[in-house]
Amino acid sequence: SGARVRRAQNKRLPQYLERGVDVKFSDVAGLGKIRLELEEIVKFFTHGEMYRRRGVRIPGGILLCGPPGVGKTLLAKAVAGEAGVNFFSISASQFVEIYVGVGASRVRALYQEAKENAPSVVFIDELDAVGRERGLIKGSGGQERDATLNQLLVCLDGFEGRGNVITIASTNRPDILDPALVRPGRFDRKIFIPKPGLIGRMEILQVHARKKPMAEDVDYMAVASMTDGMVGAELANIVEVAAINMIRDGRTEITTDDLLQAAQIEERGMLDRKERSPETWKQVAINEAAMAVVAVNFPDLRNIEFVTIAPRAGRELGYVRMKMDHIKFTEGMLSRQSLLDHITVQLAPRAADELWFGEGQLSTIWSETADNARSAARMFVLGGLSEKHHGLSNFWVADRINEIDSEALQIVNICYERAKEILQQNRKLMDAVVDELVEKKSLTKQEFFGLVELHGSLQPMPPSI
Ligand code: ADP
Repeated sequence: SGARVRRAQNKRLPQYLERGVDVKFSDVAGLGKIRLELEEIVKFFTHGEMYRRRGVRIPGGILLCGPPGVGKTLLAKAVAGEAGVNFFSISASQFVEIYVGVGASRVRALYQEAKENAPSVVFIDELDAVGRERGLIKGSGGQERDATLNQLLVCLDGFEGRGNVITIASTNRPDILDPALVRPGRFDRKIFIPKPGLIGRMEILQVHARKKPMAEDVDYMAVASMTDGMVGAELANIVEVAAINMIRDGRTEITTDDLLQAAQIEERGMLDRKERSPETWKQVAINEAAMAVVAVNFPDLRNIEFVTIAPRAGRELGYVRMKMDHIKFTEGMLSRQSLLDHITVQLAPRAADELWFGEGQLSTIWSETADNARSAARMFVLGGLSEKHHGLSNFWVADRINEIDSEALQIVNICYERAKEILQQNRKLMDAVVDELVEKKSLTKQEFFGLVELHGSLQPMPPSI
């Protein structure tokens, strides 16, 4: 018996096994249809025999693609959790070592453990760190990495089609992976996980609120619409910070206000990570203020949720959130007039640039919105909404392209003049919004409309085209 004890002591504990992984799909929110794909992967474990009998090839590897913080790791854990199998994980940056052979031997050890403890999920974070196309890195570091990559390919091939060890890897750069990695039998299945939309953000907040003492009337939608561009990791953080806020105030329930404040702090955090010169802050503020000030003149666009110049992940500049705009636009329900209004709003940054800085000093920060204006104007003409061309004939006649463009340009010009006019009439409001934005970086709906009430002079009647 002494020998048995000794053997037990000598047996190395699995190094890469994560214990106590207890994540379920219900912990991951805002996935929509992606969930179905992941449920299928769970079935490869639970119904593997059925797949094999029917000759269905079980993928060796699944690639989760998407920006940091969207929940790729969480999802991989949820697959293991739902299937009730072991979860092994490693970050590919740990593979990449200076010493030759270390990376490759880690890969071997990882898969050895996973096999001994099968069924299991092997999760490789940041696959691109090791899976970058070979030959892209020169020198001995490149050689070491190639050895590691080769070892990984060997391990992946060893499990192809068996279904008892499935590899899930995450990457933000599927485009730069070595082609050998994505060949059939290896990472031949890609699942894209985008940043959450409005509803997704609301659901993620709700998932994280489940275990917290929330007030009954919390308005998750309000918080979701304040957090455009944020990912799950940031939303989870907001709920945590809100809880701390509540405790500090000696209260027992987390309120909408706690969440909104936490959202501002989270945003602030992102903000501090980004340096801008005072001139740039001002320029961006003028850009965003112009859109908000023009939009508030139009019935379909005036429902402004917030205005911000805080940089957010994936968005260089600021942002004006118009609630109705988006919904109507995507559902194709904008009326003729509100489409023109939309074009005018998109041209406001360019108009403001001209008014505030003069033709000689135009910047290019309005180029994105000017693009929006151009495509909306073409849509207007193509859709037969202009006076000149009735009906849908414009859709079909290819040699009319020039005519269409010149008409779109006319519309753009008229809207541009209109944007300028509105901005000139509202100089006071513009200055006030710009100052506040530079100072606070974000204005809530209430703050913005407070300024409109004080300084705004709204347009009585829109000119028609
Ligand atoms: P990634 O691997 O994509 O970088 P993670 O899975 O590490 O992102 O996400 C970090 C944390 O953020 C998770 O542990 C979870 O708390 C939260 N989170 C991210 N996405 C979601 C989501 N879709 N639903 C719920 N929580 C999420």
